[in-house]
Amino acid sequence: MSETETRDFIRQIIHDDLESGKHSEIVTRFPPEPNGYLHVGHVMSICLNFGVAAETGGRTFLRLDDTNPGKESREYVDAIKRDVHWLGFDWEDRLTHASDYFGQLYESACRLIEMGCAYVDSLSADEIREHRGTLTEPGRNSPYRDRSVEENLDLFKRMRAGEFSDGELVLRARIDMSSPNMNMRDPALYRIRHIPHQNAGDEWCIYPMYDFAHGLSDAYEHITHSLCTLEFEDHRPLYDWFLDQLKPAHRPRQIEFSRLNLAYAVTSKRKLNTLVDEGIVTGWDDPRMPTIAGMRRRGYPVAALREFVTRAGVTKKDKLIEMGVLENCIRETLGEQAERRMAVLRPLKIVLTNYPENKVEMMEAMNHPGRPELGTRELPFSRELWIEQDDFMEDAPRKFFRLKPGGEVRLRFGYIIRCDEVVRNTAGDVVELRCSYDPDTRSGTGSSDRKVKGTIHWVSCEHAIDAQVRLYDRLFNEANPNAVDDVHSVLNPESLEIVDGKLEPALAELAAGQAVQFERLGYFCTDEKEDSAAVRVINRIVTLRDSWAKLEKQAMQNQNQVV
Ligand code: ATP
Ligand code: MG
Repeated sequence: MSETETRDFIRQIIHDDLESGKHSEIVTRFPPEPNGYLHVGHVMSICLNFGVAAETGGRTFLRLDDTNPGKESREYVDAIKRDVHWLGFDWEDRLTHASDYFGQLYESACRLIEMGCAYVDSLSADEIREHRGTLTEPGRNSPYRDRSVEENLDLFKRMRAGEFSDGELVLRARIDMSSPNMNMRDPALYRIRHIPHQNAGDEWCIYPMYDFAHGLSDAYEHITHSLCTLEFEDHRPLYDWFLDQLKPAHRPRQIEFSRLNLAYAVTSKRKLNTLVDEGIVTGWDDPRMPTIAGMRRRGYPVAALREFVTRAGVTKKDKLIEMGVLENCIRETLGEQAERRMAVLRPLKIVLTNYPENKVEMMEAMNHPGRPELGTRELPFSRELWIEQDDFMEDAPRKFFRLKPGGEVRLRFGYIIRCDEVVRNTAGDVVELRCSYDPDTRSGTGSSDRKVKGTIHWVSCEHAIDAQVRLYDRLFNEANPNAVDDVHSVLNPESLEIVDGKLEPALAELAAGQAVQFERLGYFCTDEKEDSAAVRVINRIVTLRDSWAKLEKQAMQNQNQVV
């Protein structure tokens, strides 16, 4: 594939700007507001901003867009930094805050006033809304719109000095109250808020609005391409208007792309916050959350996330991407990397009646079927073993090739066994199977080359490690929960199931952050927060197969019909 074929429209623009000499170096920024944890949508923005700069030898700023004190906190700042680093990107010495520029922004606002391009309004918030008009009706000028430059400057300085209360005055741009673009109808530039700021302390009681701060911060940092999501498209005329009036030495260019939305997940910090606040999940890093912290704790590999956003692509079309696409990226990455182990999640005991009582054999188990260089390990085999409950069926159909009364199955890396007797408790539940093994069928070395159709996994009872295994599923039953107001109505009540599993002894050594495949079950890792020497706590990262694929496809099709 040639380079041009893989270039998205933003990379094409950047390529052209370098080739034409418009820019000699590309400078981008990733500008999250520290009002929540980053989510899978942000992964796309991070990979794009840091990616295009790295690919062209440019630079990227991590800028905390902290113009809205009250909703922002240090905890979020720290989480954002950790998440960006974890994804493998480095801002080096370019960690900035919109609040670093409060002084310059204030000066710029004063200049707009001096140029007659901004005024202090005394209308209340409600009155301003009333004057704004609608999409079909022009707005009306505020009676305070024609205050003199001197009066405006005086009032603005006194706003800053703390002489007025919240909402009493607001600084607005003087643009056009009849503009068809509502954003151009004299938008607010500064408002009064008597609350301290997580970065700037209590130096300020007036704070700039996002639109005003953003473009100018881009200019101060010499950002060449300010990449943002499509909801800012209608703000671009305003972005350009500030630059046209103030003519900073460097002029950045805003380019919009579509948001990445993941089916069956919410990608809005506000909605994620609701899940945390209401205790629907255990925190921002709950392994079911589509936050970067949650996905890390769940065990999603960085390479898979980066591959996922590459597959999603940078476009201007709305996207709701199937969870299966992300899960397939994870399966592909882990299928290659993860060593195989044996574990039983819903144990049923079998006793091999013809196997000596105190005998233990060490079976040789391959660590990775496709990568012999990863070697083998020893797997203890004994008279009593755990197998999976659903690998046994009493009234089995003809095609059931696992264990059934009188039937035979191979134990992986072990022997062929036959089920001779089913033991029940007084309630009639199956509690144990009495089986016999064929000593000539030992895997690899047995004298018999007898074959049976099914192979199942197992763990020796005596050697098993107990573990709490957490099986995660989608948080929502609805393909696009972003569009639903009440998230409660679409929660999946089965998003977490906890089982008492039995692990092969080698899993005692499973390191934090190391993913393994439990044969026939899926990919798993220890829980970075709750796993301990006393209790092994294991997260299921993803199943081996996508049991949702069909359902999801159907739901997405229905959705497309509605849109
Ligand atoms: P949220 O609605 O979740 O709060 P946001 O846009 O308000 O998202 P910011 O912290 O302002 O969150 O986002 C930082 C950057 O990440 C912005 O440039 C924004 O455009 C981008 N971004 C946010 N969500 C997505 C998404 N779903 N897909 C791609 N980029 C996104
Ligand atoms: Mg935002």
